[in-house]
Amino acid sequence: MTNSADDHRNSHHPVVLAVPHPEPLNPRGITITCAACNAARDWLLIHVEPGMVFVRCRCTHEWREHDLETADVTAVRGATANERVWASFDEMYRGLGFDGLFRLTYLA
Ligand SMILES: [Zn+2]
Repeated sequence: MTNSADDHRNSHHPVVLAVPHPEPLNPRGITITCAACNAARDWLLIHVEPGMVFVRCRCTHEWREHDLETADVTAVRGATANERVWASFDEMYRGLGFDGLFRLTYLA
């Protein structure tokens, strides 16, 4: 799949910030839903320098969300205790439960 944060994992040590976001997202007054499984909340927000924001669903569907900006990610950053550095995207997805194991499940 193109247009995925995975594409950036091997390119010049990108600065990546991933923040779990249990609540719904509605950046322009329209609640974001997953095109693959219809989930409406419980996201992983992935910020990749310089200013790309990806949304990942529990079902592993992931897409670039143009309605979200760096500020949206950093704004929720302080609200979570799950922030840490991950060795790889795969490890991060497994560690945060976004590897498909909790497909169709809201954990929070
Ligand atoms: Zn989904």
